[in-house]
Amino acid sequence: MTSLDDIRKKAEEEARNGPSPSFDPSFYDTRQKAEAEALADAEDDIDLSTFVVEDIAGQAALDAAAKKKAGIGKRTRRKTSHWASRAFAACLRQEWLTFKGAVPTDNGGSDEIFGMGEDIEQRVVDKYILSGQFIRTQDYIEIIDPGLRFPITGKIDLLIHSNKDIDLLVQEDDELMAVEVKSCKDFGEDRGYDLWKKYLPKREHVGQLTLYLKALGLARGYLTYFNRQRALRTRYLVTYNEAFYRSIIRHYRTVEESLDGPEPDIPRGINGKRFPCIWFSRAPDKKGQPAGMCPFFSHCWAEHPITLENPGNGGGKSA
Ligand code: SF4
Repeated sequence: MTSLDDIRKKAEEEARNGPSPSFDPSFYDTRQKAEAEALADAEDDIDLSTFVVEDIAGQAALDAAAKKKAGIGKRTRRKTSHWASRAFAACLRQEWLTFKGAVPTDNGGSDEIFGMGEDIEQRVVDKYILSGQFIRTQDYIEIIDPGLRFPITGKIDLLIHSNKDIDLLVQEDDELMAVEVKSCKDFGEDRGYDLWKKYLPKREHVGQLTLYLKALGLARGYLTYFNRQRALRTRYLVTYNEAFYRSIIRHYRTVEESLDGPEPDIPRGINGKRFPCIWFSRAPDKKGQPAGMCPFFSHCWAEHPITLENPGNGGGKSA
């Protein structure tokens, strides 16, 4: 009698060598019947816990090992420019500490969330590639403004050329445009799309894009938001505005002037209970637990001493 194993062996042999000379079509009917018989008593309710084990400690060990490797040989570099991504940064003290090379007292960021942001950016880039508008990614910019001691530097996420069938508010072909992509979470996941957009667009993000437009002499660009919890998207058309640019320069100028003096006090209105000092998870089982914090949190709010690696950086009189 032909066993199921015989049938499998024969099928494998035929897959390798082609059908045997004595090919018999009824062979396949026989095989299907045998397979059906073999599957008749297959169980539907196999308990996963008999062969699947959650590996909490192993995952934590993998994360820790990757983090350690990623930090090998890294040093705090002297800050030699204003970063475009810090346009309108909320805390003057944090800017001062960063320029002076303050060694973080806390490690409150999430590499995973940062990595998700990069994945989302790639997703947006892929879409512009498919639309035929893609030019290139990650263009470095530098602005030397006569009102500042330090240059402004940054990296544009994406450059595209416009297509009036897609860029409905632009209605031009081949205009060079910068795109800044921001991944964000869902502030109002329980109450809908409009609530998610309530805080958008953010002034600091418009500022960042404005600096890219200024550096490249572009008239317009897009600020794209991507909600990483629900994959919602929206984008804003930003037209270059010189007055807005000047207000960013004034902000950077305030930072530079602070570098001539001692560590600034904690700004008024910042209380150590919310952003930019600390932020919390909305997950019901993590209520009250920080989801991230400023790298100098313990220095400001628990009086931990701070070490400045570049205390003289930026000191002296403004130009
Ligand atoms: S902890 Fe808060 S006050 Fe202190 S530097 Fe950071 S953001 Fe500023």
